[in-house]
Amino acid sequence: MREERRSNFSRRRVIKSSLAMMAGGALARAAEAAAAETEPAIKNVNTNSSPSALKITDMRYAVVVKPGPSPCVIIRIDTNQGVYGLGEVRDIAGPQYALVLKSRLLDENPLRIDYLFQKIAQFGGNARQAGGVCAVEMALWDIAGKVYNIPVYQMLGGKWRDAIRIYADTTESMDPVEYGKRAKERKAMGLTWMKMDLGINVLEGMPGTVMQPAGMSQWEKYAQPNLFVATEVTDKGVDRLCEYVAAVRDNIGYDMPLSMDHLGHIGVKSVIRLGKAYEKYNLEWIEDVIPWFYTDLLKEITTESPTPTLTGEDIYRIEDFEKLCNEHAVDKIHPDLATSGGILQTHRIGDMAFGYGVPMAMHFAGTPVSGMANVHCAAATRNFLALENHALDVPWWQDLVEGVEKPIINQGYTKVPETPGLGVTLNDDEVRKRLKPGTEYFAPTPQWNEVQSWDDALFS
Ligand SMILES: [Mg+2]
Repeated sequence: MREERRSNFSRRRVIKSSLAMMAGGALARAAEAAAAETEPAIKNVNTNSSPSALKITDMRYAVVVKPGPSPCVIIRIDTNQGVYGLGEVRDIAGPQYALVLKSRLLDENPLRIDYLFQKIAQFGGNARQAGGVCAVEMALWDIAGKVYNIPVYQMLGGKWRDAIRIYADTTESMDPVEYGKRAKERKAMGLTWMKMDLGINVLEGMPGTVMQPAGMSQWEKYAQPNLFVATEVTDKGVDRLCEYVAAVRDNIGYDMPLSMDHLGHIGVKSVIRLGKAYEKYNLEWIEDVIPWFYTDLLKEITTESPTPTLTGEDIYRIEDFEKLCNEHAVDKIHPDLATSGGILQTHRIGDMAFGYGVPMAMHFAGTPVSGMANVHCAAATRNFLALENHALDVPWWQDLVEGVEKPIINQGYTKVPETPGLGVTLNDDEVRKRLKPGTEYFAPTPQWNEVQSWDDALFS
């Protein structure tokens, strides 16, 4: 980023130029040696930084609008040494989730990542309410990588893989033939793993396919957990849904992993019936079939359904993932790193799940900033399967950043960057072009500098 290049400075360079003004080269050399001796910790460090004296000085943001889940808030955490970190609030959550944390971060050393995560973790919650905490965590890793001149994955223990498998869904169609055709086009892009959204919405207006009380409000239909909407799929409905899956399989074959999401708000028994009906199509998973916190009911579905189950994109922190894994309530987990707690928490979630024999796919729908945070975590986590992407039809998505190999998604994979930190800088011009109307590009945020409430004492 240009702004950083302008503000970059090297403490050593300052010391050197000051000393050069002193009389006598020998005196300068002696003083320089003495200065170096007092700073042994920075010997192998980017000379733009002095880790022990690093402090957070600012947090700003830019809101990007893109097709698909949007807007996406990119944050920048600045330091007193010109090094900055980029992070991203989970798609569709507002910038305030990050900004409310600013007063708790100013003057802190950004390299104390776990400490700072624990300090701010209480201000995160499930789904998009964790967006701010996770954005900050990503930005802190970006800073640490730049300071120590290594990629983030290396600080997590190193790579299990050099490239990250990407999976994606396609646009839906009410016509099974057209749906199959779109799946084929996706496969032609080089993907090695696909997902299809298929829910009872495609049965709308088709008599005899769905049993549902008449006259329900939108709130009842979509804001109530599935279990309370008394909606079940009939035999005719199951048969019709199978036509879509058959069409997709006919077009992409049976060798390629195929997952399924958005089955609709239906009851536990209907989910089980669909899980049985889809057995012959060999799906990798059916996703978020009921809310993740009904552990016993999820376990019932997982036990009864021959099609594997998966959940996790709305779960914050490791504890609830461990409960699901310990109970084997789902076959696979699917954290969204911008909800689960950021890079380190998600790495820990993966390692924990590995111990229970549970694989981990990763949900993701943001810009390449958060995308790269996912790539580093996926590279360093053993039980990783595939990383989601929702921007395959957005040609400028990858133009938002610079510094990584393009195309970012190449034949279904993203190469793990070897550059320091997350490995991306922003393409200022492109991000400015994509700003949410009426918002500014990393404008000052002094109104968030002061702690405005005494709300972090959770016990006495
Ligand atoms: Mg999903």
